[in-house]
Amino acid sequence: MERIRLHDKTFKICIPHDEILKSIKVVADQINKDYKNVETPLFISVLNGSFMFTSDLLKCLEIQCELSFIKLSSYEGTGSTGEVKKMIGLSQNIKGRSVVVLEDIVDTGVTIECLYAMLKEAGAADIKICTLLLKPEAYKKPIPIDYAAIKIPNDFIVGYGLDYDEIGRQYKDIYVLDPDS
Ligand code: 5GP
Ligand code: MG
Repeated sequence: MERIRLHDKTFKICIPHDEILKSIKVVADQINKDYKNVETPLFISVLNGSFMFTSDLLKCLEIQCELSFIKLSSYEGTGSTGEVKKMIGLSQNIKGRSVVVLEDIVDTGVTIECLYAMLKEAGAADIKICTLLLKPEAYKKPIPIDYAAIKIPNDFIVGYGLDYDEIGRQYKDIYVLDPDS
């Protein structure tokens, strides 16, 4: 589909599915190398947006790992509220673990900063951030983004797990807001 209509806005295709999968494979290969000798790293996927990314990334991993989910929310409509709400917390014991956070997209970094602090507080031995998408122009936080599959400009995007006011998550491609719509 070239264009999709969600609520009051039109979005046009910008990153096709095969390109997404190729970029994920590159990151997965790097993680396979970096975690070869690390004992059972814990991957923490940030719901809701990361569910497709998490699924496709984990299918490419050859290392033994654990997977858990956390639900955080900072966005309303097409912009960040600057405040992170925790909707579902972690059940695992994080103390002494090597943790890899899986995010759909890092924008201002408010979400990552909050989660990083939570994991540090819980005693994680090592924390790495892995995101499908990164908006380098928007990200100004000091926390290193260790793995970023795709870098994008400062635009609002949907699809492949990402929503516009809760709809549009099911599309396999990524779409950008059409400024003419
Ligand atoms: P941050 O806290 O880094 O500003 O934003 C992180 C969260 O906001 C992401 O995990 C994602 O849920 C949401 N977000 C940021 N940019 C976009 C975007 O372009 N499109 C959508 N649908 N969500 C976004
Ligand atoms: Mg997210």
